[in-house]
Amino acid sequence: MQRKHQVEFLLYLIDSFCYYNCGRKCDFNAQCQVILQVQSCLGVWVSRMAVDGVHMDGGCDWDGRWNHVKKFLERPGPFTHPDFEPSTESLQFLLETCKILVIGAGGLGCELLKDLALSGFRLIHVVDMDTIDVSNLNRQFLFRPKDVGRPKAEVAADFVNNRIPGCKVVPHFKKIQDFDESFYRQFHIIVCGLDSIIARRWMNGMLISLLSYEDGVLDPSSIIPLIDGGTEGFKGNARVILPGMTACIDCTLELYPPQINFPMCTIASMPRLPEHCIEYARILQWPKEKPFGETSLDGDNPEHIQWVFERSQERAAEFNITGVTYRLTQGVVKRIIPAVASTNAVIAARISL
Ligand SMILES: [Zn+2]
Repeated sequence: MQRKHQVEFLLYLIDSFCYYNCGRKCDFNAQCQVILQVQSCLGVWVSRMAVDGVHMDGGCDWDGRWNHVKKFLERPGPFTHPDFEPSTESLQFLLETCKILVIGAGGLGCELLKDLALSGFRLIHVVDMDTIDVSNLNRQFLFRPKDVGRPKAEVAADFVNNRIPGCKVVPHFKKIQDFDESFYRQFHIIVCGLDSIIARRWMNGMLISLLSYEDGVLDPSSIIPLIDGGTEGFKGNARVILPGMTACIDCTLELYPPQINFPMCTIASMPRLPEHCIEYARILQWPKEKPFGETSLDGDNPEHIQWVFERSQERAAEFNITGVTYRLTQGVVKRIIPAVASTNAVIAARISL
């Protein structure tokens, strides 16, 4: 994209977000939102320019290559932790010794791999059990249309290794549960960009099982810090967990947003929202009418979605409810949580920092 077009695009975003949020241009809340959006759009740009930019030639560690990282590591800042000791050795540790594991190579994972690799981490492993889908391409910027169907971990690792000289990303096209303690023990830090609480809890349990105690005293060398990030739409979080020392995932389960389910009585007898009508068609009408025989409802099958969509429309008409669309039907059936590239960029940057 040309720079001029980028600026126009940004201005367009400012306009559209204002109207989208409140319908007015001067609302304070909307303005805050816009600033956030613009900042995060810039974040995405920087990400894209960083990976799509011109490939640099020359030696692996050319002059000044790590100047940006040194600014963080070799001097304190106004917000650094009191225990932080500026040192020239930290960079060497990052470049030569530190082994980091990234779990998930999706929306957050792509951002994380890029951020970490450009910050000097070289020994990176990435675990992901998914393959690339067309719908990932808008935000999972390490993937291209030709990669659809290939394992995310492998494509992401190839991309980063080709793009960032000296970086060695090792991909694992597997589930986290396929590895045992000895695999996880080799890492200095584990970073999670997962979308499921179950996987987070498993990972958390694994790291806690790696702790060793001598006479009831925790051996600090057995602690592997877990940096956990998550995004949902425009919301996201990032936090550091020191297993055995700070509250872990299981201690703080109530912090995660509950999955939205609608009460059955509302769905069956008092629908008020378009979602209620869709849930009625999905939960009650589908198993009763068996429109495709014994086949269970498949969110990826357009004929199935079309059927649910039409039944939902009928139900909505009956109760004077508006707003049932094909897109919403698909969203409800597949439990799609909108994914926002800029949120991923912001959260990943936060985690990497
Ligand atoms: Zn705990």
